[in-house]
Amino acid sequence: MSSSVALRLPSIDGLLRHPACVPLAERYGRESLLASLRQLLDELRSSVLNGQLSAVEISPDVLAGRVGERLAQQQRSNVRRVFNLTGTVLHTNLGRALLPDEAIDAVQMAARYPLNLEFDLATGKRGDRDDLIEGLIRELTGAEAVTVVNNNAAAVLLTLNSLGARKEGIISRGELIEIGGAFRIPDIMARAGVRLHEVGTTNRTHARDYEAAISPRSGLIMRVHASNYSIEGFTARVPTAELAELAHRHGLPLLEDLGSGSLLDLTRWGLPAEPTVRQALLDGADIVTFSGDKLLGGPQAGLIVGRKDLIAKIKKNPLKRALRVDKLTLAALEAVLGLYRDPDRLAERLPSLRLLTRPQAEILAQACRLQPAMAEVLGEPWQVSAVQALGVIGSGSQPVARLPSAALCLRPQVSKRLRGRFLLNLEAALRSLPIPVLGRIDDDALWLDLRQLDDEPAWLAQLPQLQVES
Ligand SMILES: *Cc1c(COP(=O)(O)O)cnc(C)c1O
Repeated sequence: MSSSVALRLPSIDGLLRHPACVPLAERYGRESLLASLRQLLDELRSSVLNGQLSAVEISPDVLAGRVGERLAQQQRSNVRRVFNLTGTVLHTNLGRALLPDEAIDAVQMAARYPLNLEFDLATGKRGDRDDLIEGLIRELTGAEAVTVVNNNAAAVLLTLNSLGARKEGIISRGELIEIGGAFRIPDIMARAGVRLHEVGTTNRTHARDYEAAISPRSGLIMRVHASNYSIEGFTARVPTAELAELAHRHGLPLLEDLGSGSLLDLTRWGLPAEPTVRQALLDGADIVTFSGDKLLGGPQAGLIVGRKDLIAKIKKNPLKRALRVDKLTLAALEAVLGLYRDPDRLAERLPSLRLLTRPQAEILAQACRLQPAMAEVLGEPWQVSAVQALGVIGSGSQPVARLPSAALCLRPQVSKRLRGRFLLNLEAALRSLPIPVLGRIDDDALWLDLRQLDDEPAWLAQLPQLQVES
């Protein structure tokens, strides 16, 4: 031990009265400040006793500063905005579709005031929440009836359980898919109480395969959109119309899980063709399920549309109550669907469609505009170039189609041995900006795909804070 007098931590009371702590109490509340102070002093006590801290390190000003940082950290929300520059537009891990202003206004209204969620204003009687959007969905898809649940996974589970429990569900081996987050068709069928009867092969399934599987045990035929892969080459798939005809001949319903389920033909905006809900119904599918937050561009939801008698059966299932959507979702969904009534202006008004249809030339011009600022902030040894790039729609729409886009390509000019570390450090630095910037590492470079960089001022404003470890 040194001969000097042992240091003593300031008292809690003293700290609470200290001028640097008074504003903290006002800002975060006395209780939070007290708890943070106690915690910090407890942590420091043994170090002080061991003589590991200097007088300055335990001065009231320094301690107040440290507690202030902790309180600020605590107050910061865990749900944070980010810049999605990954090149995947509908990114499941980043929240998929962005809502249009019309939907945001509707959500605000629904959050702030009581509303007619399950109340029929015309009769004054109890209503059904599905009625709020049924008219619009019928108009936009040609469906007889509609019900909405939490997401498309729930829509598939509920439909299978309602129409096929304790019976066999016939499905092609080429459609037994797994989607991210452990959604696997065989598992969902099992949980729904439907016995899987797989037919055909991975690459080729014929009408006669389905036909041979039909027996008194059969409950339904299911078709699933191959969302995240593609089968090419020597393939055969029964067209929906033919499969529907076969199902109906045997008195079975045909379910079609469309996944993305576009309401309009996307080729009118130069995007890859994606089957529409209306077409699936016209082809004879009895029930079609699809997501609200994929190509539709709305909130997370699962839409179940189709034959009135089957929808009625689905709505009677007690699971429907467990999987129902909340008022905020319905408010947003109605507003988004409303925009589809005017397809000519949809690409201006629906953010996901606007972003998906941004011309490559415009994105490249943006990349050229931002290149000097990025190059200046990074400095040596980074080479920053504005280049053409390829993105994807994401969320299981057109897994093999590429969206011509443009990016800032950040390439470290260092030896091959060091490249990986440089890239990971840059990636981490971009992630720790006030609004984290997420790109993708590929081919020894970090790519920032600018298709989704809407808020250029905010992006530029925080750039000087970028600090890359080397
Ligand atoms: C995305 C998808 C699902 C799951 O939808 P969620 O809305 O994410 O629950 C189910 N089936 C298919 C074919 C899909 O593409």
